[in-house]
Amino acid sequence: MATDSRTPPAAHEPCRLCGSSGTAQVKGPAPRRFLHCPSCDLVFVHPDDYASLAEEKARYGKHHNSPQDPGYVAFLTSVVDAVAALPLAGRRVLDFGSGQEGVLTGLFRARGYDCTAHDPLFGKGSDALSSRYDAVALCEVLEHLRDLPGELARIRGALLPGGFVVIHTLLRPQDPSAFTDWWYARDITHVNFWSMRALEHVARLLGGQVRSSNGKDLVVIGPGR
Ligand SMILES: [Zn+2]
Repeated sequence: MATDSRTPPAAHEPCRLCGSSGTAQVKGPAPRRFLHCPSCDLVFVHPDDYASLAEEKARYGKHHNSPQDPGYVAFLTSVVDAVAALPLAGRRVLDFGSGQEGVLTGLFRARGYDCTAHDPLFGKGSDALSSRYDAVALCEVLEHLRDLPGELARIRGALLPGGFVVIHTLLRPQDPSAFTDWWYARDITHVNFWSMRALEHVARLLGGQVRSSNGKDLVVIGPGR
């Protein structure tokens, strides 16, 4: 990635995913400052530039996450289809970061899954992580998480042996100049930007490996073979 001389330099910040101290500032949409980790390949927003939780919640309120929105339901259906294609031992699914509406939770239930919604930001499923699941769905979640090692440890603890994690997040452009103009990096609630190499690091932290990807926005992590 290209280093950034345009915005004020960020104070040194270790990688939010792997803890490496070798991070370097890269160009991204102003005014937030972005760092790249050569060790795990994560690009992340400097924590000093995070939105407040109140700003973040207000931004979520403007998302059109309605079960009446056909485009929204179609992209959530791709996540349900990805889970349906897995060799799961049972039908217990955790919708981690379900949001206020829980539309994905409803789609899973309509397909016969025993789906639990979990989203502390909206007070949903506070005891959901005391159970364990055959699959965990992270649909438009990984780009928001601020405590990556902590949240990934909680997700790993909620997985039954042999369980799978299905991730929906838009993979970032390889071209650094495209990243600078990327709409996904302008959303003030998005703080982590993923490549396949960074998601392979996530898979290791979850105790598994990347099992498949569509190369665009959908990645399946499962037990090692
Ligand atoms: Zn890293």
